[in-house]
Amino acid sequence: MAKLIFEMSSEGRKGYTLPKLQVPEKKVSSLISEKFIRKNFARLPQVSENEALRHFIELSRLNHHIDKGFYPLGSCTMKYNPKINEDAANNPGLNSLHPMQSEELSQGALSLMYELAEYLKEISGLKEVTLQPAAGAHGELAGLMLIRAYHENQGNPRENILIPDSAHGTNPASVTIAGYKSVQIKSDEKGLVDLEDLKKHLDENTAALMLTNPSTLGIFETQLQEINELLENVGALLYMDGANLNALLGIVRPGDIGVDVLHFNLHKTFSTPHGGGGPGAGPVGVSDKLIDFLPVPKIKKEKDTFKLEYNVPKSIGRIHSFYGNFSVLVRAYVYIRMLGSKGLKRVSENAIINANYLKERLINHFQLPYKSTPMHEFVFSGSKLKEKGVSTLDLAKRLLDYGFHAPTIYFPLIVNEAIMIEPTETETKETLDKFADTMIQITTEIEENPDIVRNAPHKTPVSRLDEVKAIKEPDIRFQFKKVTG
Ligand SMILES: *Cc1c(COP(=O)(O)O)cnc(C)c1O
Repeated sequence: MAKLIFEMSSEGRKGYTLPKLQVPEKKVSSLISEKFIRKNFARLPQVSENEALRHFIELSRLNHHIDKGFYPLGSCTMKYNPKINEDAANNPGLNSLHPMQSEELSQGALSLMYELAEYLKEISGLKEVTLQPAAGAHGELAGLMLIRAYHENQGNPRENILIPDSAHGTNPASVTIAGYKSVQIKSDEKGLVDLEDLKKHLDENTAALMLTNPSTLGIFETQLQEINELLENVGALLYMDGANLNALLGIVRPGDIGVDVLHFNLHKTFSTPHGGGGPGAGPVGVSDKLIDFLPVPKIKKEKDTFKLEYNVPKSIGRIHSFYGNFSVLVRAYVYIRMLGSKGLKRVSENAIINANYLKERLINHFQLPYKSTPMHEFVFSGSKLKEKGVSTLDLAKRLLDYGFHAPTIYFPLIVNEAIMIEPTETETKETLDKFADTMIQITTEIEENPDIVRNAPHKTPVSRLDEVKAIKEPDIRFQFKKVTG
């Protein structure tokens, strides 16, 4: 089972037929410079069409993915991605468009991007949006560059960005790359920003507060009025990490609660398949204060024509080649148009009710350290299981045996043995119940036969790997064991 495709190769076997050449034949060397022409044929596998297809279908079966089963990975919004998005992104008029095509011949694509930015402005309540960043973390970097440009323009870039300890891990990393120092702010017992600790660290050297909202605990920050006043007093800005916008669509507009910069994760909230490294899109929306600094080119509408504007003197410049990951923008556009404003609000309402339903079904079996009502995700602690010698990692591995992707574990760091669950709005009550029943069954297994959980998984193609070694020395020739059950 599971040979490499190279090992299936048989000399001369083919998976394609090409039509007869209908244009004059030319030597490759007349088209490409000699130094780029390979001396030997590439060693490609020679297989039939069905061999290639079966091989990749089999690999997709060995892996877990959203089209196969429930994927409650907290903070990642692994919702089901409607297939109509793929159809639209595969439209030849969109996906064969060359990025060097003239503005005149790219009006469709430019209007799609322009409209998408308008929708994101409406959804976020912010004043202008750039679509260029390629992911959430890239949006963070772009946003921080905008903050730096704003403060520099005021005469002093400042040094510190304050980050609550319930923030996403990419936040401090982006802060460092943007040349700022990250200063950690404590959470209070409700999981909100500890205002006393904020006051202690806030001064004229603070460039911004970078708030994940809802936080990685799934808790909405309710003290924004006080926080904004404190920030205003020292001239600091408010950055909101909007990757968790799945909880807020049509309910809260960040621009209305004082946010100056926000990044969206189109590949999470607006349904592009993700995981495994992209591509994604992390557009950034800004308040009036930061408009002058946005990246170029900007897409402008003049009467019914769309133009690219490069002449923006205070702009931070380009942050992506061409216009960003265009096909992700197409998917988000279709998703927003399909749902409309009412549908988007229902997305968040259902995401919230699904998370709270699941939390209630499990609350007697796990510990909820931060008691505030969660929004689209919640974080349990597995500390009681740990007392019985079973870790959160063991529980996560055992879930794989039942065909579920594991939740996010050991994150956020402020929860001991953290188990972070985000069911999303796209799952049925039956799926949520099945998952809850399985989690409870595993707690029973821990009472009766803890070893079965400690040694899990038993039914996956490979069992427990040395995770560091697996990354440093990937062994793709690994002999898969026979999968039973
Ligand atoms: C996923 C996520 C990010 C980072 O987004 P990427 O697209 O993975 O770079 C940032 N913040 C939060 C809260 C997230 O969930």
